[in-house]
Amino acid sequence: MLPDREIVTPPAQARPLPKHDVMGPLARALEAASLGAALALLALNAARFAGEPRLLAWWLPLAVAAGVVAADLASGLVHWTADTWGRESLPILGVRFLRPFRIHHVNPDDLCARDFVDCNGDVALLVCPVLMGAWLVPLESDLLGAASVFTAAFGAATLPTNQVHQWAHLPVPPRAVAWLQRRGVLLSRAAHQRHHTAPYTDSYCITTGWCNRALDRLGFFRAAERIISRATGLVPRDDERDYVKRREVG
Ligand SMILES: [Zn+2]
Ligand SMILES: [Zn+2]
Repeated sequence: MLPDREIVTPPAQARPLPKHDVMGPLARALEAASLGAALALLALNAARFAGEPRLLAWWLPLAVAAGVVAADLASGLVHWTADTWGRESLPILGVRFLRPFRIHHVNPDDLCARDFVDCNGDVALLVCPVLMGAWLVPLESDLLGAASVFTAAFGAATLPTNQVHQWAHLPVPPRAVAWLQRRGVLLSRAAHQRHHTAPYTDSYCITTGWCNRALDRLGFFRAAERIISRATGLVPRDDERDYVKRREVG
C-alpha cells in the first residue's frame, strides 16, 4: 500500500501558514502580457472559424467537447504529477511549478487572495503555444478542421483552469459561477473538497472536474503510482512529506 498524504495536515502549533510567493514587477508584466496574448489568440481562432463554413458539420460539437474533456484530463495529469513527483528544491521547476502546489495543500485559502493576473498568468503563458498551434493548422479538410477546433477548445478550456480552481475555493463565488457549479458545468466547492480531504489522492482534475468521478472509480492515479514506483523506486508524495517536516522543524 503506497503512502498517502495524511501527514500533510498543518501542525497544530501557531506557525504562520506558507503563502504564495509575491510576484516581482517583471514576472507580473510577463503574466499580464501572456493573458493579453492568449485572449488575442482566442479571438483570432474564433474569427477564423467563423469565416469557414466547412466547420459547420456534425463533428463540430464533438470536436469542441473532446477538447474540453481532454483539457480537464490534462489538468488532472499535470496536478497529479506536481503533487506526487519531483522536488520543490529543483531549480526553476521546483520554485515556479511545484512550490505553489505544496503551499496550496498546507494553506488552501491562500489561493483566494491571489489577484486575477497572479491567478491566471502562468496558465496563459502555457496556453499561448497551444492556441498558436490551433491557428496554424490549415482548415483545408474536415480532419484538419476538427484538429484545429479540438486544439482551440483544449486551449480555451485550459486558460481559466486556475480561475475555476479559485472559484471552487471561494465560500461565496459569483452568482453565475455558483449556478454553473451547481449544474456540474464547473468544478464545485464540494467536488473539489474531495481533493483536500484524506487520503488526499482523488479528484485531481480542476479545469471542469468532469473526469474526476471516472478516474477516481478506476483508481487511475493510484495504479499509475504503483507502476511508476515499481519501475523507478520513487515514493509518491515523498517531497510533500519532507515539505511539511521542514516547516515543522525549520
Ligand atoms: Zn493537489
Ligand atoms: Zn484546491
